[in-house]
Amino acid sequence: MALNVAIVGSGPAGFYTADSLLKADPACRIDILDRLPTPYGLIRFGVAPDHEKTKNVMRGFARTASDDRVNFYGDVDVGDALSLDELRGMYDAVVLAVGAAHDRQLGIPGEDKAGVVGSATFVNWYNAHPDFVDRTPDLDTSSVVIIGAGNVAIDVARVLVKTPAEMAATDLPAYAAEPIQGAPISDVYMVARRGPVEAKFTNVELREMGHLENCVPQVAAADLPDEVTGEMSPRDRRVREKNLETLRTFAAREADEKPKRVHFVFFASPVEVLGDGRAEAVRFERTRVENGRAVGTGEHFEIPCGLVVAAVGYLSMPVDGAPFDHRYGVVVNDAGRVAPGLYAVGWIKRGPTGVIGTNKPDGRDAAQQIVDDLGSGGGMPGRDGLESLLRSRGRRWVDFEDWRRIEDAEIAAASDGAPRKKLYRREDMYAVLDQQRAAG
Ligand code: NAP
Repeated sequence: MALNVAIVGSGPAGFYTADSLLKADPACRIDILDRLPTPYGLIRFGVAPDHEKTKNVMRGFARTASDDRVNFYGDVDVGDALSLDELRGMYDAVVLAVGAAHDRQLGIPGEDKAGVVGSATFVNWYNAHPDFVDRTPDLDTSSVVIIGAGNVAIDVARVLVKTPAEMAATDLPAYAAEPIQGAPISDVYMVARRGPVEAKFTNVELREMGHLENCVPQVAAADLPDEVTGEMSPRDRRVREKNLETLRTFAAREADEKPKRVHFVFFASPVEVLGDGRAEAVRFERTRVENGRAVGTGEHFEIPCGLVVAAVGYLSMPVDGAPFDHRYGVVVNDAGRVAPGLYAVGWIKRGPTGVIGTNKPDGRDAAQQIVDDLGSGGGMPGRDGLESLLRSRGRRWVDFEDWRRIEDAEIAAASDGAPRKKLYRREDMYAVLDQQRAAG
């Protein structure tokens, strides 16, 4: 009897798991559920709009979803449409691949002021996530502070300072492009609590900041050490040495070369967001790095700004029906096994770090565990049970053919070399499907 497996979440972790399962057990049947009508999770809503090539993995995922053994159920929220326990009652195995969709807090006074926004919220907003399209930040400021020195901080900085021409051939929605490109932003400060050697950006992303049409990178030469020291893997050392080399070229750039500047500020830990009701400045304490940790020096300074983006990492939320470790923000799991028949992959398993490809081994491990634990003997109703439950609750869902129709409509509506014009309201997506059905 075929194994019936449900995967909750259609981002990279979910799709890599499906792909591995098809190889590990060619007889299995896989259903991928997503709370949104659209598949691909962070590929659609996390990857920056001007990094279209990074989104090419969607093609492979689409091939997986088009496999006869795989079904997609979009707009089915586990926890709302049905509970995790109900899902587990219908499938031989359930894999949680729900990611980390929320913002980590800074934990400093003033972070609840207007004008302070988390990077997940900000990125979801400019990437046309249906739940965030109305979260327009107030961009009427010349100065923005971004806290954090990871790739998300770089993405946010780049999207804020790129010109309309640089963003033309992207899927940045018009409702975000207009306020961003009309904003009087001249200076973006990306502030790291540790030094350039500890910064988390990868080198391609950092280098890109030196090639912007209207914006010059700035960094204080005094913050750059002569060499990378300390224990680390050869791979990490190479990235850090390259970053240092890139930052040295930034230190030689003139502030008035271009109308905008992105300042890389190191050794500064945020202590308070200042302002009367809304953010007007961030107060920092200077730090030094001791044994890899930022240690305060007691010296403080302020950066005036009208917008603060906290790009300090993502956060997973508990999944009802699964044990959650609040300290690490993950589902309690033993190398991916959560409970009999319940598995976790990706950021909900191991926390919000790593790039898209980091999810591949997770998928392989989960597929192997499922086959090892359950053999090929299934017996649960799988999709027949799921569909009849959803129908009995009057729930509509988006299958993969439906998604293809939505995607075709997005591609057809695109102009100026953009890859797509994203639809971001459920009603607009369903209208596309209903119109096509009515047209026969
Ligand atoms: P990240 O790489 O973990 O960076 C988070 C940054 O926030 C770090 O610099 C961290 O500093 C800082 N931070 C954390 N808590 C802080 C606090 N309380 N005060 C001040 N600073 C604080 O996270 P991310 O940028 O959100 O990225 C998540 C993952 O997605 C990463 O693995 C990233 O590489 C990946 N990603 C990749 C790309 C790409 O490949 N182009 C694009 C976007 C995201 P410490 O180091 O001192 O903790």
